Amino acid sequence: MSHPIPAPTPAPTPHFTTRIVHADRWGGAEHGAIHQPLHTSVQYGFERVEDLIAVFQGTVAGGFNYARQGTPTTAALESMLTQMEQGQGCVSFATGMAAICAVFLTLLKAGDHLVASQFVFGNTNSVLGTLADLGVEVSVVDVRDAAQVAAALRPNTRMVFVETIANPGTQIPDLEGIGALCAERGLLYVVDNTVASPYLFRPASVGAGLVIHSLSKSIAGQGDALGGAVIDTGLFDWSRYPNIFAAYRKGNPKGWGLQQVRKKGLRDMGAALSAYAAHQIALGAETLALRMERSSATALALAQWLQQHPAIARVHYPGLPSHPQHARAQRHFKAGAWLLSFELRDAAQCLPLCNRLRLPIKATGLGDTRTLIIPVAHTIFWEAGAQVRAAMGIADGMIRVSVGLEELEDLRADFAQALQGG
Ligand SMILES: *Cc1c(COP(=O)(O)O)cnc(C)c1O
Repeated sequence: MSHPIPAPTPAPTPHFTTRIVHADRWGGAEHGAIHQPLHTSVQYGFERVEDLIAVFQGTVAGGFNYARQGTPTTAALESMLTQMEQGQGCVSFATGMAAICAVFLTLLKAGDHLVASQFVFGNTNSVLGTLADLGVEVSVVDVRDAAQVAAALRPNTRMVFVETIANPGTQIPDLEGIGALCAERGLLYVVDNTVASPYLFRPASVGAGLVIHSLSKSIAGQGDALGGAVIDTGLFDWSRYPNIFAAYRKGNPKGWGLQQVRKKGLRDMGAALSAYAAHQIALGAETLALRMERSSATALALAQWLQQHPAIARVHYPGLPSHPQHARAQRHFKAGAWLLSFELRDAAQCLPLCNRLRLPIKATGLGDTRTLIIPVAHTIFWEAGAQVRAAMGIADGMIRVSVGLEELEDLRADFAQALQGG
């Protein structure tokens, strides 16, 4: 298969950041470059036409012909992401949404059934509606309880889709229970791991077959590049999956699923990650663990402080013992991540409070170096309407915070003045 990922070399260490900062070298960076060079060429030429043919026919590993199908720069990033999730391969995309759409549209057909979490990213929820229009049956269930997923299953169910930590309410699915159910029924378990990041959680540990990331959040980390990725954990048996095209049912079945996502999803649909963005993302990804530890520690302390404030009715953060899935978060995640949300007792104070805050930036977006805040009902869940907001537990006075790298004392002082003022 034409899967332009450098042959994986055994990692010299199992430790996350050591592996990641040396990831470039395992693919063989030319001239001994310490950082993988940026390859911007769209076409790739060959001395002998036989070599061009070999790339087209997929009889050599690691060849390139046209940048929409990958470049040495996207391949280096894909190799790094594969190592982060300790998977068997990765396909990168222009955005996280492109990665999600590629998985749904290349692996599901009209007449198939998909079970999806009721707590998903707003645009993903919109895509579920598109799938229904295309003839895919979609059941949206409360994935905090694996029994609800089990009850939704039908003979034509192919896939179960969840997010590790839902935005903005931070609900956590029964990751393990759903994994066991999918293994028992031979279903493809797809986990959007964007909010937890591969540093805090590896979905392979609960049996996920595919992991999806928006690279635009913590992995790039600086809010300056869009990207997405699909990683195959190697756990799903593609030989039993009915929707693999005949042309791809060749060779080792382990590669079938991702090959279909690369060819039908990336090559044909065309949402390719640019080499410039891939390079930027790879640089940001080297510091993922440091940023996740710092922002998780700050988010926990801020959540604890907000929780005891008299103006605040509720704080949603997996690291708080009051979180309904706190034990689950403790069991699976290294830390609670940077996403928290809270509800004011007086919903009318929601917008004035946002305006009184000086440090957090009023903006959508997640996983930036800077703290970002947004009133949820008025913005990202405005289009969804009051009924969906109620079903998702989104109160009118809910504010989402994506905690950045600022000093805790500065953030706390700013929240203190903003909550007091008015
Ligand atoms: C942001 C996000 C996406 C979409 O990613 P883009 O890179 O913005 O397209 C998908 N899922 C989750 C959980 C996200 O936070």
